[in-house]
Amino acid sequence: YFVVFEGGEGAGKSTQAVKLSAWLKLRGYEAVLTREPGATDIGMRIRTLLLDSSAEGAPSPRAEALLFAADRAQHVDKVIRPALGRGAVVVSDRYTDSSVAYQGAGRELGRADIAWVSAWATGGLKPDLTVLLDVDPAAGLHRAKAGGDGDRLEQEELRYHERVRAAFLELAAADPRRYLVVPAGGTPDEIAAAVREAVAERLDI
Ligand code: C5P
Repeated sequence: YFVVFEGGEGAGKSTQAVKLSAWLKLRGYEAVLTREPGATDIGMRIRTLLLDSSAEGAPSPRAEALLFAADRAQHVDKVIRPALGRGAVVVSDRYTDSSVAYQGAGRELGRADIAWVSAWATGGLKPDLTVLLDVDPAAGLHRAKAGGDGDRLEQEELRYHERVRAAFLELAAADPRRYLVVPAGGTPDEIAAAVREAVAERLDI
């Protein structure tokens, strides 16, 4: 099985991905916990390029979208497909929906184009279950920047993150059998319990 966590900043994806993979291991499964970008050697180098925020270093929006796609292609070929092939459960912190939401909707490159590029990069590999941790951008960004300048969030940045959130929710609404949408307001343990329940119910684990 292939399970993906998606959501905006400060939604608690990484915490939940760790909790789910620990639970799967307790139940006797080989759980492969992975993330994007940067799960492979090439991916780590791409991640460095993506996170370069200097004006000359920052990739243009289209270059950024292709770098995410290249990272993902390597991730699928070197990590995800081999693990699924030997019967492991793969738990990934982000996957194609992040590109559709961030580059397609957030950067306004077009969701359909980004979905197409993503499908090509992955050879069409889709998750069996996507857990969307839905968080209000204002609250999430406060959490992600805890202690930082959350109060002075740029309006433009907020609108960008509102587009990202709306795109995630639309993707989930279009394919409800394959998504679990969890409002990120609960405690980490409450959210983990809801995720376990959905995994047990939908994936026959
Ligand atoms: O998963 P994490 O929150 O660490 O993501 C790192 C950053 O990469 C986030 O700030 C997110 O905005 C950005 N990102 C992106 N496009 C993607 C995936 C992540 O802009 N496809």
